[in-house]
Amino acid sequence: MNRTIENAYRDFPILTGNPDYSYLDNAATTQKPASVLEAIQEYYSGYNANVYRAIHRWGEEATRAYEESRTKTAAFINAPSTRQILFTSGTTDSINLAASSFCRRFISPGDEIILTEMEHHSNLVPWQIQAEHHGAVLRFIPITETGELDLEVLETLWSEKTRLLALTQMSNVLGTVNPVKEITAEAHARGVKVLVDAAQSVPHMRVDVQDLDCDLLAFSGHKMYGPTGIGVLYGKEELLQELPPYRGGGEMIRTVTLEGSEWNELPHKFEAGTPNIAGAVGLGAAIDYLNGWGMEAVEKREAALTALLVEGIRGLKGYTLYGRAPERGGIAAFCREGSHSHDLCSYLDSKGFALRAGHHCAHPLASKLGALSTVRASVSFCNREEEIIHLLETLETAGSELF
Ligand code: PMP
Repeated sequence: MNRTIENAYRDFPILTGNPDYSYLDNAATTQKPASVLEAIQEYYSGYNANVYRAIHRWGEEATRAYEESRTKTAAFINAPSTRQILFTSGTTDSINLAASSFCRRFISPGDEIILTEMEHHSNLVPWQIQAEHHGAVLRFIPITETGELDLEVLETLWSEKTRLLALTQMSNVLGTVNPVKEITAEAHARGVKVLVDAAQSVPHMRVDVQDLDCDLLAFSGHKMYGPTGIGVLYGKEELLQELPPYRGGGEMIRTVTLEGSEWNELPHKFEAGTPNIAGAVGLGAAIDYLNGWGMEAVEKREAALTALLVEGIRGLKGYTLYGRAPERGGIAAFCREGSHSHDLCSYLDSKGFALRAGHHCAHPLASKLGALSTVRASVSFCNREEEIIHLLETLETAGSELF
């Protein structure tokens, strides 16, 4: 068999090792190709050492590999410089860093921050914590019937006191892809900064930070075929220069006296302590893997699988699919009339499908939809059409066996 994107699953040991199980929980985390596993193994068994300060060959090699991953990450999202790529432990950590540093520097009591009703808790709770601390007011862009942002209401939310707008590029429940570039231009026209939660977009579409022109952008390694515990915060250089550090410790300082410290240059100012070296190496290998297919090919393949999944669920009797945005990614949240979503999810597991049930860490959105718990299927290019067809058949015949 030729190696094509249609049979990409063969690159993933966990998928080839479990041929009777279909993994459709890619929005929660993705599986790891052999090349990523090998890169991590090679680091630990070949040149494990701490970065920067070691004057020995393993330390130099570890530093080179760590920084090479930063270079690959910058290129992947078209960041102008590696100084703008901060390694964190994931999207949640990136947004906590951004919220804490931004609010300390720019927020005074009464200032306003705009969020949306479709945010993951990771792009909501950090702002709530900071708003409470600094006396900021949070305002929200509501969603429409189709599960898109209501941009007419956004027009009424701007004020002289708006300092920042934070929004997701792709909803982890509805699959909606938001018009981030247009919203960013609107925000900038009013002198408002923009943070993009790209946890669900960077793994599935070409994301170009210079084209979006966003000020800050966060994503996770583990959702893009890399390991857990590594993530990225991208920021515009002048903004990162102005932000105070988030955590203190080794490597983020230039000088330290007992009375005070001066900060290191970017990106080190934001990377206190020993970083996740193996995680960064794994992320670099994941980026190489994605580049091997090309993001255009990934997007095309996932669009075909998404259409099959979404149209299929829409056509099933007794099921409700949430979200009807025309611009969407490979995420489908649904309910079955008369069944609890957890029961349906356990049933699907027994039939060989890994899906997810619950509020998907977007409680306010779930309340708004009137469905506190839904079942969510999320695809990746490494899924196969047969898996989706088989899932749809299983959902169709779920009735009698489920009760
Ligand atoms: N934002 C969105 C849109 C997400 O889907 C997720 C993960 N479900 C996160 C943030 C948080 O990512 P992590 O848990 O990797 O920090």
